[in-house]
Amino acid sequence: MQALPVAHTTPSARAVTSQWSTAPRRASAVTCRVTGSEQHSVSHMERSSKRSSDRVPFAAVTPTARAGPVLLGTEVPTPLVAAVALGGAALGLRAIKKVFDTPSRTYDGQNVGKEYDAWTREGILEHYWGEHIHLGYYTEEEQAAGYKKKDFIQAKHDFVDRMIQFAGVSNPGSILDVGCGIGGTTRMLASRFPGAKVAGITLSPNQVARGTALAAEKGLANCEFKVMDALKMDYPDNSFDVVWACESGEHMPDKGAYVREMVRVLKPGGTLVIATWCQREVTPANPFTASDKERLQFLYDEWAHPYFISKEEYGRLVQGTGVMEAAHLEDWAKYTLPSWRHSIWVGVYDPWIVVSKPHLWYKCARDGVTLERFHRAFVDGLVQYGMIRAVKKKAAA
Ligand code: SAH
Repeated sequence: MQALPVAHTTPSARAVTSQWSTAPRRASAVTCRVTGSEQHSVSHMERSSKRSSDRVPFAAVTPTARAGPVLLGTEVPTPLVAAVALGGAALGLRAIKKVFDTPSRTYDGQNVGKEYDAWTREGILEHYWGEHIHLGYYTEEEQAAGYKKKDFIQAKHDFVDRMIQFAGVSNPGSILDVGCGIGGTTRMLASRFPGAKVAGITLSPNQVARGTALAAEKGLANCEFKVMDALKMDYPDNSFDVVWACESGEHMPDKGAYVREMVRVLKPGGTLVIATWCQREVTPANPFTASDKERLQFLYDEWAHPYFISKEEYGRLVQGTGVMEAAHLEDWAKYTLPSWRHSIWVGVYDPWIVVSKPHLWYKCARDGVTLERFHRAFVDGLVQYGMIRAVKKKAAA
């Protein structure tokens, strides 16, 4: 004798479900689409339902659903359908992960200026980050109270004030801001030091235009912006009292040339101050794992960074010029860390500029993922926030 499907033949199940179900009788209609054994079993169910009431127990329709759909005349078991659906979903997720794991803006020697031109034109970065394209500063107390309570833009202003303190400069006559973005920091330095002439250089013509317009809007006459390569600056030797570089070293394809050029244009007695994302120092006892290397490579490639070096290596490069003294290094990862997730939250709280630009959704989604990846790399100590300062020897003239 042919075995009946379990749900049909289990009296207890029928008893339990019939107490609860008031589903109208439609089992016969459902069974029109199923196989002979199903029809047989439903007939059996119909017979028993006639014995009890006009209403069909809910369990009566279940077997049809459990049997799964018919494909090309063959009944496909439900577990198989579920397995195929799950497999499809897993493959889809893997494909999405692969797309997001594959960097999209790899440094190619020429794209840094273009990427910043695009960011400036699109306006999204400025909308969220304001005039400053660098991380913010959050004190331990602010972090204990909840970093999201701090104003995101204020954190960036605080960073600049902390960096001024770190540099230990008080009354400079001239400042060079190397890799100035749209000049938020350049203008802030020009306001903090009204007696100083402040110059900002960048690879992006759009940033120069935006920085110049914002300076005019604010009535700041003591700052100017130029497109210039930090590795081959037009300035003569010994030109500036302070050379300031905030989050531009990340993009430099030759960190040695970067440091040497900045030191060259620095006046004797002047101060070099650098803030930059660094990879942690590698030692024989603490080498990078394969996973460390893979994570770093993504962080380099996604935002047009050739590579990072450690803050210790920056220290060696500064010392290596032979004309610098009083070099001092710090890691500010703990003060800047909230910036990464805060960046994501400001987008969540105020998504409309992104929503209104569908052509940028994919790019913004990628940037969200990258922000989180940076956050994790900083948490794990794979990346550090290098602060480097040194003074050019007076005898170096
Ligand atoms: N310091 C800025 C923004 C940093 S974003 C601020 O405080 O807001 C990085 C900047 O470095 C961009 O403006 C980019 O154009 C600039 N940059 C990168 N490589 C450069 C190079 N070789 N020469 C000059 N500027 C460079």
